[in-house]
Amino acid sequence: MTMFDRERQPTTRAAEALRLVSVSKVYGTGDSAVTALDGVTLSLPKGSFTAVMGPSGSGKSTLLQCAAGLDRPDRGQILVDGEEMSAGGEAARTKFRRDRIGFVFQQYNLLPTLTVEENTALPLRLAGRKADPRSIRAVLTQVGLGERLGHFPDELSGGQRQRVAIARALVTRPGVVFADEPTGALDTRSARDVLTLLKESVALHGSTVVLVTHDPVAASYADSVLFLADGRLAGNLSAPTAEAVAERMTHLGDRVSHSPLTEV
Ligand code: ADP
Repeated sequence: MTMFDRERQPTTRAAEALRLVSVSKVYGTGDSAVTALDGVTLSLPKGSFTAVMGPSGSGKSTLLQCAAGLDRPDRGQILVDGEEMSAGGEAARTKFRRDRIGFVFQQYNLLPTLTVEENTALPLRLAGRKADPRSIRAVLTQVGLGERLGHFPDELSGGQRQRVAIARALVTRPGVVFADEPTGALDTRSARDVLTLLKESVALHGSTVVLVTHDPVAASYADSVLFLADGRLAGNLSAPTAEAVAERMTHLGDRVSHSPLTEV
């Protein structure tokens, strides 16, 4: 279950993976200032799969950037596994991110000169942690690439590359995995595989996943959907269907585009 409330503080403390308290972010100053996030408070339990949706410009990317420690909010607190993200310098935030956050991006962001196994091990090396080959292989087997350890990214399909990216995100056992339009560049079948894999990692391994997407069908794989409008939370939906998500988006003022995941 996802809990949020604009007025009250979230009440779940036990097994909370991510907590935002009154997070605000303004770009620019004076007349050109844009409030991208306007006092967002939310709490996501461990082992939850949450989609974040909203019209273009509603603040989804800013929410992800701030919650994942890639950017710094102007106000508010962010806690991952109960630990507050440092409001201090870039180095402290980078360390926090490396220790506690996993990322899956639309364009995979694999290093072309590293093998599948080396790409997957990279976050452990960057965090100064031991990269045990058995655990690297276990996570690659989990994503169905146990036979591809020595391949390079350009020898893989888009769907396979995204599965390497998921393995790389999971290998550090992060507090939260943020997936930013992870199916945006994939064909229907690969997109479904990737979403199923994210769902399985939540169900089987208790990962916590936050999926930012435009696509109601992709969002329907999540346990719940948070809607953003004008930088504020604008409702949520549990056990979402694609139809219910699309319907809600229409009320938020977005033209719902045809999902590449919908069979025609
Ligand atoms: P979404 O991901 O939902 O499309 P964004 O988080 O990208 O929304 O943007 C929220 C608002 O902040 C928009 O009005 C956008 O124009 C503005 N914005 C985002 N990034 C910047 C930036 N770097 N500089 C100025 N304005 C920005």
